This record gives sequence, C-alpha cells and structure tokens, in this order.
Amino acid sequence: MGRGCILCGRWRPSEQFGGRGPKSRICRKCRRMPKIEQQRLLRLGEIHGFLEQSNISKKNIKRLSTLETDAITEVAELASLVKRIAVAQPRRRRRWKWLWRSQRELLQEAVKARLIDPLPPRPTEPDNDFEWSPENDFLEDYFELDDFNDVWIEPRSYESEPSSASICRALTGKR
Ligand SMILES: [Zn+2]
Repeated sequence: MGRGCILCGRWRPSEQFGGRGPKSRICRKCRRMPKIEQQRLLRLGEIHGFLEQSNISKKNIKRLSTLETDAITEVAELASLVKRIAVAQPRRRRRWKWLWRSQRELLQEAVKARLIDPLPPRPTEPDNDFEWSPENDFLEDYFELDDFNDVWIEPRSYESEPSSASICRALTGKR
C-alpha cells in the first residue's frame, strides 16, 4: 500500500507521509522543499486540475481570480490564462476545438503554455485507446483541417526550431 504525493505525483509508501491535513498528501521528500516551492507546485497543480474537470464552475473561476493575484508570477500567469479559457469555454468537451474556431489566439497561448500539445499520436496506437485528453480533444479535428499551414506547433525544449524549408517539405511531401 502507498499513497500518491500531490506535489511530485510519485507513489510512495504510507510511512513517508505525515498524519493529518495537507501533510498526509505530500511525501517526505517534497515536504523538505522550501515552502514557496511547495506552494508553487500545489497551486500549479490546482490550476491544471481545473482543465481536467468536465466543467469549470463559477466557484472555480472565482478561485482562479484569487490565484491570478498570487505572488508567484508563474502561478498568477497560468491562473489568468486558464481563467480566460474557463470563461470562454467552461466545458471540457470540445473545448480546444471550440477555441480553435472562435478564439485561436487564446488556443495558441494555451499551446505555448503547454496546456495542450498538438502533436499527432503515434501511428501504432489503436483508435479504441483514444481516451480523452486535452491533446486528443484538439486532435479530433486537427486532421480534418484543410488549412494545415495555420497550425503552429511550438517545438519542445529539446527540439530545435524547424526551418521554414523543412516545414514546407513536411507539408507538401516534396524534397
Ligand atoms: Zn512528493
């Protein structure tokens, strides 16, 4: 038996958790981190959690308003972005598609902030495993788009930015 730590997400033996309150859900290793770092992770996790809910309630949006004024800039900025997304489209289902159609700049901000990662699934993955995830919700229509040039995929940190020539080659299949 063990527990999942709400900060690092790791599954650890129960002995590594404190007895009561928030301590009971944060592992020993994470409790050794500076308080501010714990708060940062906790709040970022809370904000990401709103996007996984099937609906972001008015109460959640109020909470996001509070987090928007957080002293930790990263937290405040993410809260502000997620709040704008929540106000535009509180429902999870088809949210990204809806944003694609109606508020593309907001969608691109979400991509930049890594809230969605519009990369195609690996071809080996069978379709029936296509569970909901922000990426897949977006991808549902991603392949139906005619205007492929409009999709900007932010390179991952370990990838270098592709040259426009290589993007052209990828899009047209020409060399
Ligand atoms: Zn932990």
